[in-house]
Amino acid sequence: MRVVQADITALIVDAIVNAANSSLLGGGGVDGAIHRAAGPQLLAECRTLGGCATGEAKLTGGYRLPAKYVIHAVGPVWRGGGENEPALLADCYKNALKLAVRNNLHSVAFPCISTGIYGYPKPQAAEIAVTTVKDFLATQQADIQVIFCCFSKEDADRYHALLGSYSNSDQA
Ligand code: ADP
Repeated sequence: MRVVQADITALIVDAIVNAANSSLLGGGGVDGAIHRAAGPQLLAECRTLGGCATGEAKLTGGYRLPAKYVIHAVGPVWRGGGENEPALLADCYKNALKLAVRNNLHSVAFPCISTGIYGYPKPQAAEIAVTTVKDFLATQQADIQVIFCCFSKEDADRYHALLGSYSNSDQA
């Protein structure tokens, strides 16, 4: 697992994850940026998929992106935390990684799913992202380089702190 501060559309990886909405027909934030960078063929493929439930993930081509594939994961809208948001957010990370394993992908970059327009509190979302990915990689013994792609320095610092605390506890 590693952290980068970058525009996810620029990353040269097997797949970037899109924080999509359930229509899969594009939106604002990282979703809009990915569709702009990938070009209209991405939307055309997304139209054939019939949407995606919250917590689930679907794979498409990357088209004009440097990434070969896009994994569209639909995060939960934050409604105060009592609507199963933590489990649904964890499902996004798990289901995206399952798709990566199934498609033999070896590098996957995630944005901070749900923490923009969907309003998920950033510290809790980052904790779920890191613990879910760490547990998945440990139990599946998957050979995948996972990159947490943070748009802001604040997010990158938060992920660095979380990953640092894991590596410290590993040494203990
Ligand atoms: P959601 O609807 O799941 O909340 P958003 O796209 O609004 O999705 O925000 C998710 C995260 O993606 C936010 O942390 C936002 O800062 C980040 N983000 C927005 N654009 C980009 C980009 N081009 N590359 C990486 N991260 C981005």
